[in-house]
This record gives sequence, structure tokens and C-alpha cells, in this order.
Amino acid sequence: MATATALKPSVPKQLPQPNSDFYQLADALTVEEKAIVKKVRTYMETKVQPIINKYWSDDAFPFELLPSFKELSIGGLGFEGYGCAGGSQKLFGVVAMELARVDASLCTFFGVHSGLAMGSIYLDGSEEQKQKWLPPMARWEKIGCFGLTEPLVGSGTSGGLTTTAKRDGDTWILNGQKRWIGNAPWCDISIIWARDLADNQVKGFIVENKTTPGFSVEKIEHKIALKVVQNGQITLKDVRLPEANRLQGGNSFRDTARVLRMTGQRQSGCFAISTPAANGEPLPACSTAPWRAGWRRRLDCKNVSRADK
Ligand SMILES: Cc1cc2nc3c(=O)[nH]c(=O)nc-3n(C[C@H](O)[C@H](O)[C@H](O)COP(=O)(O)OP(=O)(O)OC[C@H]3O[C@@H](n4cnc5c(N)ncnc54)[C@H](O)[C@@H]3O)c2cc1C
Repeated sequence: MATATALKPSVPKQLPQPNSDFYQLADALTVEEKAIVKKVRTYMETKVQPIINKYWSDDAFPFELLPSFKELSIGGLGFEGYGCAGGSQKLFGVVAMELARVDASLCTFFGVHSGLAMGSIYLDGSEEQKQKWLPPMARWEKIGCFGLTEPLVGSGTSGGLTTTAKRDGDTWILNGQKRWIGNAPWCDISIIWARDLADNQVKGFIVENKTTPGFSVEKIEHKIALKVVQNGQITLKDVRLPEANRLQGGNSFRDTARVLRMTGQRQSGCFAISTPAANGEPLPACSTAPWRAGWRRRLDCKNVSRADK
């Protein structure tokens, strides 16, 4: 017969360290690439995590982080030449995963600038445009945004853009609005996609936000998701641009889609598996739940801003 003295109190098992890389994607990186990922992880844990909740609560971007963020040298990751960081598309994805692991908004800031805005110029720009814009963007001296979505056109941008571009001699005149544009309220350069009234094709334009007459941005307030990255509604009222500011390789929505495909493929999958709530880690910042709501929208669900209700 068993006696009470035979029953030993059980010792709780030590849980393994949480690992956000479920699919061990980082294993596919080179030693040098792994060192970059480690540098980004350390940065996010030591510099971002301690302060980011305050910015989330304040609905504000942490400009104080920009100088140290630049030192990570990850501008133009995955692009060769033009002062870009180079490396593989996989590396871009895993770095995005590391950023999103601590704060999905900073990952969006990175993806919009270094993926969508720089990618538009890298894929659709002329050699001259690449030489002019990519080096300062890779150094984070000029920050970019990507203006495709409009107040009434989200999923249907391929066929329904209402922003127009009209050629007038050596210049173009742009009219319309863009909404939900990440980084727009404060950045330097916007890639604006507009429909050419002459041939009905979508074309891309580089607009210098701070010096172009007729260009204005209103910050989208009361977001419930991705509160640290700043989204804006851009208005273009008879904005006049030289032909030199038209992306020379962007002649139809097919060229816009190449940029979306490239950035989406290397980043979104990593986003989807990197959030703490998705991988069971403790929540490091307030950003996780809103992130999920925000990207449900990007992945075709409903709105995240009370401003639009
Ligand atoms: C935080 C955040 C940052 C963003 N940053 C940028 C940015 O930097 N630049 C930019 O250009 N845009 C940006 N966007 C906009 C984003 O890309 C759009 O939200 C996205 O394209 C979806 O458009 P929508 O939200 O208008 O949804 P809608 O197009 O209105 O879709 C709503 C619903 O209808 C469904 N639906 C739509 N069309 C069809 C159809 N034909 N058949 C069946 N179902 C359909 C969708 O699946 C979805 O469930 C951002 C959005 C957010 C939330």
C-alpha cells in the first residue's frame, strides 16, 4: 500500500526560452547575415522596447530613435549598389521579423521606406533617378512614403485609381488624394501613383513633400492599430512636377505591382509569424493587438481607424 511519504512534491519544469522564429528561417542566413540580425535584435530589445509603449500611448513617432536606427545600416537592405545595404531578400524578411517582434509599427516604418518607397525607385526608376535618390534614402537622410491607396480605393487600385496625372509640355499636373500612407505626415519624399489622363495607365511620380506647392498631408488621428507609425491623408492640388520626377520605368500598374510583390513577399510572411501574441511570448509593447487589427485590414479585413467610421 502506498504511503504519503512516497509522494514527492513535483518540481515545476523549466520552460524553454521563447523563440519567435517558428520556422527557423534565420538558419538559412549566412554567418554575416546572422550577425546583422543579432545586432537588430539587441537594438530593439535595449533601445526600443524600454520606451516604445509611451510613444504608442501618445500616438507619436519616436524621432529620438532615428540617429541610432541609422547606425544599424539597414537602409536599402536587399538592394545592390547606390549605397544600399545589400544582402539577400531573406535577410530583409528576417530583419523585418526582428523589428516587428518588438514593435510592428517600426517594422512598418522600415518596410514603407526601405521596401516600398526605395523599391519603387530601385525597380522603376531611371539610372539617374536611382543615383539621385537611393543614396540619401539608404542613409535615412531622406525618408520616403508610398502613396497608392486612396480614400475610396484600396483593394481596387489596379483598376480604379482616381488620382490623375496630366502631361503639360515637360511637366505633369497631379490632382487627387491618397489615404493611409505610412510615414506621410513627416517624411521627405512621396512616391505617388496616378492615372495618366492621356493613356489611362498608372504612372509613378517622386514628389518632394516639403517644397512642392499644392502638396499637403493631414495626419490620420484616432487609429487603434500601429499607432507609432504615422499615417496620413495626402492631398494633391494642381501639383506640378517636371518629367524628371516621373519614374521612368513605371508605365502601367504592372510596374506598381512589381514593387508591391517584392516588398510583400519578403516582408509580410515574416510579419505574420513574428508578433509576440502569435508566438506565445510575453507582450513587449502595447502594439501587438492593434497590429493584428491593422494587418487584418491590410490582409483584406475591415477598417482600423475610428476616423473613417
Ligand atoms: C496601418 C496601415 C498602413 C498603410 N500604409 C499604406 C501605405 O503606406 N501606402 C498605401 O498606399 N496604402 C497603405 N495602406 C492601405 C492598405 O494598403 C489598404 O488598406 C489595402 O489596400 C486594402 O484596402 P482597403 O482598406 O480600402 O480595403 P477595401 O478595398 O475597402 O476592402 C474591404 C474588404 O472588401 C473586400 N474586397 C475588396 N474588393 C473585393 C473584391 N473585388 N472581391 C471580393 N472582396 C473584395 C476585401 O477583401 C476586404 O475584406 C495602409 C493601411 C493601414 C491600415
